[in-house]
Amino acid sequence: MSDTETKPSSNFIRHIIDEDIRNNKNNGQVVTRFPPEPNGYLHIGHAKSICLNFGLAKDYKGGCNLRFDDTNPEKEDMEYIDSILEDVSWLGFEWLDEPKYASNYFGQLYQYAIELIKQNKAYVCSLSPDEARAYRGSLTERGKDSPYREQSIEENLDLFERMKLGEFDEGAKVLRAKIDMASPNINMRDPILYRIRKVEHHQTGNEWCIYPMYDYTHCLSDAIEGITHSLCTLEFEDHRPLYDWVLDQLQTPSHPQQIEFARLNLNYTITSKRKLKQLVDEKHVHGWDDPRMPTISGLRRRGYTPASIRDFSDRIGVTKVDGIVDMSTLEFCIREDLEHSAPRAMCVLNPLKVTIESWSDDRVEDLSAPKHPKDESMGRRTLKMTQVIYIDRSDFEEVPPPKYKRLTIDQEVRLRNSYVIKCNEVIKNEQGEVIELRCSHDADTLGKKPEGRKVKGVIHWVSEQYSLPAEVRIYDRLFSEENPDGAAKKHEDADSHFLDFLNPDSLMVMNEARAEISLEETQPGDSFQFEREGYFTADPDSGADKLVFNRTVSLRDSWAKAGSK
Ligand code: ATP
Ligand code: MG
Repeated sequence: MSDTETKPSSNFIRHIIDEDIRNNKNNGQVVTRFPPEPNGYLHIGHAKSICLNFGLAKDYKGGCNLRFDDTNPEKEDMEYIDSILEDVSWLGFEWLDEPKYASNYFGQLYQYAIELIKQNKAYVCSLSPDEARAYRGSLTERGKDSPYREQSIEENLDLFERMKLGEFDEGAKVLRAKIDMASPNINMRDPILYRIRKVEHHQTGNEWCIYPMYDYTHCLSDAIEGITHSLCTLEFEDHRPLYDWVLDQLQTPSHPQQIEFARLNLNYTITSKRKLKQLVDEKHVHGWDDPRMPTISGLRRRGYTPASIRDFSDRIGVTKVDGIVDMSTLEFCIREDLEHSAPRAMCVLNPLKVTIESWSDDRVEDLSAPKHPKDESMGRRTLKMTQVIYIDRSDFEEVPPPKYKRLTIDQEVRLRNSYVIKCNEVIKNEQGEVIELRCSHDADTLGKKPEGRKVKGVIHWVSEQYSLPAEVRIYDRLFSEENPDGAAKKHEDADSHFLDFLNPDSLMVMNEARAEISLEETQPGDSFQFEREGYFTADPDSGADKLVFNRTVSLRDSWAKAGSK
C-alpha cells in the first residue's frame, strides 16, 4: 500500500499473535485468509474482516489468502466472484498467489471423508430431513442416535461412493460425522459433512453432485493452505469444537487456530448479504452499487475512498463484544479524507437567475480561485464572471428570518471569489414565485472589503453561460430506524419486516443544478467539495450532456445535532 498510514491500534488478536511469535509457534509465521462466500457483494462488515486479515498479514510480514468459500453452488455466481476480486483490490490489498477456491479442494476433502469413514468417525445417514431434525434434539433436550449410526464401515464406504456417483436423490442421504448426539453443543451432534445437490457448480461444473458443508470445508481448507490464524466472527465460537474435531481426526498439514471477533453492525443500515440481495432483487435500490447501499461497491460509487474505509476499520477496532457502530463514524472518516484531498468547486444545486444590471452583457471576466484553500500544490481554477449568473434559491429571502446573512432586498452579499452585489428588483411569475433577481455589483470589491460598510454573507454562484448542467443526487440514511433488523424482530414476519423501515427520502434528485465550468473534464469517481454544500463525487451515469454527482457526505454532521429527522 502506498499511502502513509499510522500504526494500527493493538487488539486482542495481535496479542495472541505476538505471544505465538514469542513461542515460535508456526515458526513465527502469520498466514491469514479472507473467505467470502460468493453469494452477494461485499459490504462494510466484510471490509472490517478484509482490513483485519490483510492488515495483520502485512504488519507481521506474512500473507493473506483470498479464498472463495464456494460450497453452495445454487446461491453463488461468477458476478459475485468478480465483484469480490475488484473490491478487495480496490481496498488496497494483495492476496498471496492466485485467488483460491474451497472447490479446488473437493478432491482432497472427499479423500478426507473416506478417511473419516474408515476410522469409523463418519457414516451415511438415510433419515429424512424432518426425521433428522427430530433426532437432533434441542437446546434443552439431548439428541437421539440415528438408526444408521452403527452401519458397517464397508456399507458406509459403499453408500458414500454411490452418493458421489449420483445414485440417490437430493435429501435422501447425507454423510455425518460420528461425534456425540448428547453433546450440549448442537454443532457436535453428528453434524452433516456432505449433502447431495444435483446442481452445476461455477468452478467444477458437473463433476460433483455431493457438496461438503461449510464447517467441514472451512477448517480443512485452512489446514491445506497452512493458515496460522483463522479469524472469524463470534457466531462461529460454538463451531470451534467442530473445527478442531475434524482437524484432530485427520492427518492434515497443519492445525490452524480459530479466533473469533465481533462482527461490525452499523446503525441505519443492514449488513446481511441476504437482506441486501432482497433490496436489490425487489428493486428497493438501484442495484448492489447503489450509493445508499453499505456495500463496498456502493460506498465506492458514493465517493468513499479506500483510505477512508481502512481508517474506519482501524478506528472501530477489534473486540470480542458485539456492538453497533454509529454511521457518523464512517462519515467522519470520509470527511477527514476529502477535506484534504478534494478540490473545491462551486455548484448551484437549486438555481435562481441573477442579472447584474451594472455588468455589460458581453463582458466576461476571468477570476482566479485556489483549488484548495490550504494546499497551494493543487493549483488554481478560473471562474468566469458574466452578466447573468445563478445563485442558490436558499441564498435569497424576501422576508429574511432573524440573523439571515445572505442576500435580501436590503442586504448585500459577496459572491465567493468575486464581487459584492446588491438586489434592486425581484421578478416573480404569475404564481408569485421569485424567478429572477436584478442586481448590481460594486466594482471596487474584488479581493477587497467594500468601502464604509460590512458585508457578512458570502454565497456561491456560477455563470449562466460558463457553467455545466448537472444532476445532483442527495442521499440520506437508507433506513429511518436506527436498528431496522431489531425493530423488525418485534413483528411476526421479521424476515421481510425490515423493509417497513426503509427511509422514503433516502434519495433526492436535483435535476437543475449548475456546476462551474472548470469541472468540464470531470471523470466518474472525481471528488470535490462543492463550497457550502458538501462533498460530491462524479457518478458513472455522467454523460456529455450532463454531469451527475453523488453527495458523498455533508460538510458537517447534521445528524449529531438534529438527533434524527
Ligand atoms: P452475511 O451475513 O452478510 O452473508 P457472511 O458472514 O455469511 O455474511 P461471508 O461471505 O461468509 O459472509 O463472510 C466472509 C468473511 O467476512 C467471514 O470471515 C465473516 O466472518 C466476515 N464478515 C461477514 N460479515 C461481517 C461483519 N458484519 N463484520 C465483520 N466481519 C464480517
Ligand atoms: Mg458465511
